[in-house]
Amino acid sequence: VPPLEQRIARARQQMRDLDVDILCLAEGPDLLYLTGYAAMPLERLTMLVLPRDADAILVVPRLEVPRVVEQPELFTIRPWDETEDPITLVANRIRAARTVAIGDTTWARFVLALQAQLPDARFITASRVTTPLRIVKDDAEISALQRAAHAVDEIAHAMRSRPFAGRSERDIQREIVDRILATGHERVNFAIVASGPNAASPHHESGDRVVQQGDVVLCDFGGTMAGYCSDITRMYVAGTPTPEVVDAYDALTIAQAAAVEAATIGTTCADVDGTARQLLGEADLAGWFIHRTGHGIGLEAHEDPYIVAGNTLRLAPGHAFSVEPGVYLPERFGLRLEDIVVATATGPHRLNEASRDLASVG
Ligand code: ZN
Ligand code: ZN
Ligand code: ZN
Repeated sequence: VPPLEQRIARARQQMRDLDVDILCLAEGPDLLYLTGYAAMPLERLTMLVLPRDADAILVVPRLEVPRVVEQPELFTIRPWDETEDPITLVANRIRAARTVAIGDTTWARFVLALQAQLPDARFITASRVTTPLRIVKDDAEISALQRAAHAVDEIAHAMRSRPFAGRSERDIQREIVDRILATGHERVNFAIVASGPNAASPHHESGDRVVQQGDVVLCDFGGTMAGYCSDITRMYVAGTPTPEVVDAYDALTIAQAAAVEAATIGTTCADVDGTARQLLGEADLAGWFIHRTGHGIGLEAHEDPYIVAGNTLRLAPGHAFSVEPGVYLPERFGLRLEDIVVATATGPHRLNEASRDLASVG
């Protein structure tokens, strides 16, 4: 059975388990996952209407139809004209539904209009149906993540022999953006370049600050390649790091490696997070580790599973996620180290292989 048919069959099984009558997916990664269609986010409604026990339709603005690859075994295209009301069209198809699972990122204007027409239906988030599917990557998805990871590995490596001092963050950021596209990504999702004290802000917006001798420079970047995301963080220092930076980075490297090693099948996400936190605590740095240890990755740069305290989900083969502890000392410096890891039956497998050493650059 082709993968999309398998995915839709599994979605229907999940709908049975949750007693969901209809799955309604507007533009977004769930739609892409089940149909292969990357719709444009528009004010015009695109929506897969997938009943549990009947054939699916894909409601598409007529002008977008040329972009949709028709797949009669999966869904029938129902184009709508500019003078039609697509919400009424959808509502008329699902009048009898008691429980509707609706895509988590569907615009409120669509959800509210649909709810107004279906006052007796119960709405739940579609992630209840789709997350258990998407969280386990198949071999083709792992390969895509691996290729994307290797592409950014090359960039992280190349930056080790590039000058940093005297350049603005924005200038270095532009170079990384160009390199992400040059390595075959179709899209850049983010490129954080944070120098010196700016690195103490985990999601610093790169700006005009010029890198000074002795600055640490945090580079966290990624994009989308053949549909799947890359995400890596590496640390650079212009010239020679201070002993304090060296010690903190050593502790961070140890904590990151321990958290990766902890990510075995059956371990909870919370315990992976706890491992990183405990080791940073032993170096008196836990107070500066102000975010979760990681996030899942796939069609989206951030998705389930989240590696965070309180998440009792146990890792299973095919889970793909970042392990990215960091320490952020306000007004002084910040450090983060990030790899993408896949949980496998033979142990955690890091997709990123670029050197994790603090790179001394010019
Ligand atoms: Zn982040
Ligand atoms: Zn990142
Ligand atoms: Zn990340």
